[in-house]
Amino acid sequence: MSLLVVGSVAYDALESPYGKVDRTLGGAATYFAVSASFFTHVSLVAVVGDDFHAKDEAILRKRAIDIEGLERTPGKCFFWAGRYSENLNDRVTLTTELNVFADFKPRLPQKYANSQFVFLANIAPDLQRDVLRQVKGRPKLVAMDTMNYWIERTNDELRKTLKHVDILMINDSETRQLSSEHNLLRAARHIFKMGPSTLVVKRGEYGAMLVDKHGVFCVPAFPLEEPHDPTGAGDSFAGGFMGYLAGVGSKSDAALRRAMVYGSVLGSFTVERFGLDRLLSLKKSEIHARARHFSKLTQFTL
Ligand code: AMP
Repeated sequence: MSLLVVGSVAYDALESPYGKVDRTLGGAATYFAVSASFFTHVSLVAVVGDDFHAKDEAILRKRAIDIEGLERTPGKCFFWAGRYSENLNDRVTLTTELNVFADFKPRLPQKYANSQFVFLANIAPDLQRDVLRQVKGRPKLVAMDTMNYWIERTNDELRKTLKHVDILMINDSETRQLSSEHNLLRAARHIFKMGPSTLVVKRGEYGAMLVDKHGVFCVPAFPLEEPHDPTGAGDSFAGGFMGYLAGVGSKSDAALRRAMVYGSVLGSFTVERFGLDRLLSLKKSEIHARARHFSKLTQFTL
């Protein structure tokens, strides 16, 4: 089944103890779409400026990603710069320039309107809602991400968007910030009152946790000896997760558990190299091999 995503398509400047890049294709929707495209057809809604490079457009075109909803307007692409600490766990945002996203009014191409799986990637919550409003009927599954930038600046808008969402997929510090609860299980209960019925907490090197009415399901992060750049790991997790669900057309408990594993698999590949580099050379066979490895990692008998 087709998967619709709205979010940032950006240029990023990245610094980690392993190196530095001044300007590389990034953005939450980009990482999401590339990761999900291994499993299903993806419809992208975003805006880029006239500085968007043809070689970057080709990266999207070459995959199962429909870019009819990628608008081009005069101005500059969204730009984000971040720096990671020695242990890669902490990062500081050096710059966020919304640029063409500041005045973006998303218009959904007709052929996207029946999307059954929708992901509202990290972007202004009113834009997320705008896209959702243009989808016909109630999709089978709506998931979303957000970050401290929006929790702090547009909290009321964010609360309105959350009312229409089934799965909220955020990291642990965002979970605590949004719910004002330190404990993640208590935070989940708090967040369920805002709209979502499922919370997926992305916990970096500690893996990911899904909480819903059935209980809790956890996956570890794939142990890597040399992670290079965590940028986009969360969006790739979401892409693997939603891509898998849309690919099998299910949101059953068993499918959600497998989706957690495919999310972790895609996130783990992303951090192996800078920016999108590892995803761009990734093969389906490598994804499935790592998923099998995950199964071995967590198998035990009592
Ligand atoms: P992640 O590492 O998963 O949090 O995602 C990093 C990506 O999110 C980068 O490629 C950025 O371009 C993008 N990004 C950073 N800040 C924002 C923001 N405020 N809104 C939308 N996208 C953002």
